[in-house]
Order: sequence, then structure tokens, then C-alpha cells
Amino acid sequence: MATGKTSIIGLTRDELTEKLKALGLPAFRAKQIWHWIYTKGATDFSQMTTIAKDQHALLTEHFTLARPKIDKALTSFDSTRKWLLEFEDGNKVETVFIPEEDRGALCVSSQVGCTLSCTFCHTGTMPLVRNLTAGDIINQVLIARDGLSEWNKKREDCLFTNIVMMGMGEPLYNYEQVARALTIIMDGEGIAISKRRITLSTSGVVPMIERCGKELGVNLAISLHAVRDELRDELVPLNKKYPLKELLQACRDYPGATNARRITFEYVMLKGVNDTDADARELVRLLDGIHAKVNLIPWNPWPGAKYETSSRNRQHAFAQIVNDAGYSSPIRATRGEDIMAACGQLKSDSERKKGEKVWLGDRPTSS
Ligand code: SAH
Ligand code: SF4
Repeated sequence: MATGKTSIIGLTRDELTEKLKALGLPAFRAKQIWHWIYTKGATDFSQMTTIAKDQHALLTEHFTLARPKIDKALTSFDSTRKWLLEFEDGNKVETVFIPEEDRGALCVSSQVGCTLSCTFCHTGTMPLVRNLTAGDIINQVLIARDGLSEWNKKREDCLFTNIVMMGMGEPLYNYEQVARALTIIMDGEGIAISKRRITLSTSGVVPMIERCGKELGVNLAISLHAVRDELRDELVPLNKKYPLKELLQACRDYPGATNARRITFEYVMLKGVNDTDADARELVRLLDGIHAKVNLIPWNPWPGAKYETSSRNRQHAFAQIVNDAGYSSPIRATRGEDIMAACGQLKSDSERKKGEKVWLGDRPTSS
């Protein structure tokens, strides 16, 4: 960090304990600090009243709890919230909170931009600028808790109950940082959102899917969008590397998928492109043997895109076929459209500077 201080947000509890030990502080301090940050929302050591005042200075000298800057905070007519966050290096990402009656999901970003250029996705028009760190990812959760005033509240009074890794970027191309962040978010002594309430969406990074299931055990969502390789190669270019057959096999093998915990297949409805009855029937055939449910997403427009959304009738006819075959296939309601917060509309003005190396965290630079 520019301040030379270590951000505690992003350290595991063990790492924090070790760092405090090096300063001569006992292990129980780490537990207290963890609690202040992740259950009470402390943003400054001076708020930590259970910690002796003379230690506040020592902690402040070595560590920071600073949140990213909120560049914009918008609220939709349907109560969806969106925050544009600016990190220390000036890069920006968007985070969206989608409230429902008795629950709500935070849609979290994993990268600034995306390498994958899916043709229907606004984020895909950005180059990958950089991977987010675990701290950047967790900070999105903390900012949402701040904005919703949900610190120090009883769990049953909180609307922020779920996390979906469906914001900007491909989470399985930033696996190490995403895994670290989710592990911290799932920690029972802190934010404590359970793996059953976390869904990770991938466009199909096949070699990472098994690891994600084994190590994190979160719900999996697959951005399918096409049922034939030829079309999927075009819509989701990653398909050329990991075609449908391999992707579906990885889903069959996904650790932890059961009838009670199904894999979600996301299918964006593009008029005249992927929305025929024959497509729906082929989808049913492909899903055979997978604990699956289907999420039909009316395509959300963005400036300059070449697609149109399938008609309501077409969406319903498609859903009916999938439903009749025994798969739940709700048509997802569009939320936050007026503030460009709907699925696939997220984009920030971060740009990769000419010649700048992409920071890919733990992954070798390959794009
Ligand atoms: N990169 C990951 C997660 C982020 S995208 C992935 O692709 O899965 C979250 C979901 O929104 C994906 O299913 C994506 O395909 C979909 N999406 C992208 N652009 C969209 C748009 N314009 N309208 C509707 N859904 C879109
Ligand atoms: Fe990236 Fe997902 Fe958008 Fe594809 S749909 S460009 S993988 S964010």
C-alpha cells in the first residue's frame, strides 16, 4: 500500500495472529480485532474499546483498515443498490446489492475488467486491468454492510444474507484471491456467511471447477448460454478452450452437488440467437444426469451491443420445455436496470495503460 501499512482486510485469522505476535501482542488480540472488524464494522482501531488505548497507536502505526473510496452510490427505483468503488491505485469496480422480501444478495466483482470478451456482456468490452486482491473483494462486502447499516444487527434482521460472485470478472481466473476472500467471509467468528449462501458463477474454467468444489464447497453457477459448441464458441469464447462436453463432465463431477444443492445453469435469452424450442430441448438433453436447475436471464442491453432480448412469449415457451422436463427454470427478474446494475451491465472506466503489465495475483501473466 502507498502508506506502507499492511491492510488487515484480506489477512487470514492465522496470518493476523502471526503478525500481532511479531509485535508482541497475544493471540487473543487477533480474535478481538477480527470481531471488531467483521461483526461490528470497525474502521479504526480507536473504536476498539476492548483493546488498551496504548495499543491503538502501535496498531495504527503498522496496519490499516481503510475502505476503498466510494466514487458513486446509486439506488434504483426497485431498491437495488450499486456502489462504484475506487481503490488506492485508482482502479474501479462495481458492486450491486439486490434486495428481496426476506433476503438479499450482494453481487461481488472479482476482477477489474475481464479477459474473456463474451459478446453479450458489457464487462467483456473492457480489457482485464487487474485481478482484485482478497482485500478488495472483502471490502465490497464491508462497504455494502456499511451502506445497508447492517452492523451490530441480529442476523434475522439483516437483509444482506447471500453473496453471488457474479459481478465484473471471471472468478476462476483469480481463484487464489477469490478463495482467500471467501474463506475469510465464511469464517464463523466474523462475517459468517455460509457456503450454502454463496454462489460462484463461471463462464467455464474447467480445470478450476473441481478445486472450487473441494476447497470452498460453494454453490456453482455455470454461464452456459448456448447448447452447441459452434454458437457457444462465439458467445462465450472460452468455449474454444473448454468445450461443452468437458464443461458438462466437470459439472457431473462437481463435489457437493446433490438434489438439494443443484448447479445453476445461467442462460441469457438472446432473440433469434439461442432461444428456439429446439435449443430448449437440446438443453434438457445436455443436463441429463446433472443435479441442475436453470436460470433464464432476459438479456440486459448496454450501449453498442448487437443483441436484442427474446420476447416474453419466447422466454416462457423456452422455460416451459425445460420445466416440463423436470428442471426448475425461473425467468430472472431484471433488477436495477435504471442504474445499469443488472446482470452483465457492469463496467467501469478503468483502463489499462499502454504497455502496463497486468497484475494477475497468483496466476502467471498470460493475457
Ligand atoms: N464471469 C462470470 C461471472 C460474472 S457474469 C461468468 O461469466 O459467469 C454474471 C452472469 O451475467 C453470467 O451468467 C453472464 O453470462 C451474465 N451476463 C453477462 N452479460 C449479460 C447481459 N447483458 N444480460 C444478461 N446477463 C448477462
Ligand atoms: Fe467476463 Fe463473465 Fe462477462 Fe464473460 S460474461 S465477459 S466471463 S464477466
